[in-house]
Amino acid sequence: MTLTEYKQKRDFKKTSEPKGKVTKNKSSKQLIYCIQKHHASHLHHDLRLEMDGVLKSWAIPKEPPKEKGVKRLAVMTEDHPMGYEKFEGEIPEGNYGAGKVKIWDSGKYELKNKDSKKIEIIIHGKKLKGHYVLVKTRYGNKPEKSWLFFKV
Ligand code: MN
Repeated sequence: MTLTEYKQKRDFKKTSEPKGKVTKNKSSKQLIYCIQKHHASHLHHDLRLEMDGVLKSWAIPKEPPKEKGVKRLAVMTEDHPMGYEKFEGEIPEGNYGAGKVKIWDSGKYELKNKDSKKIEIIIHGKKLKGHYVLVKTRYGNKPEKSWLFFKV
């Protein structure tokens, strides 16, 4: 896991987002989960899950589902550093992801199963709770990065 793409996209003299580094958590099976609401050029929610020392990230164009039966497109974005789950603030105009970031939900999650096409998790958040799945799909305009996120 590297943060190369994350760092290439940002000028840390201009944005207050964390610079961060890959930080492996060896002990805990309670892993960090968060969703940030991001008022960028298009309002979206960013799902972040701690995996292998980084926060794996997906942009969800609509509101994340609290109930079963709603499938949301989740487009994988660059890995973010541990600690980003605490970030709130305004990314200045002209910078990557410019706009306001607010924490929408936070907590821990348990990883139940993971392969290249499917990730099964138990979310212990304040808004999202329970068994969720991310499944690879070809839907959307970035088919190689597209996943579906839903509660089961
Ligand atoms: Mn975003």
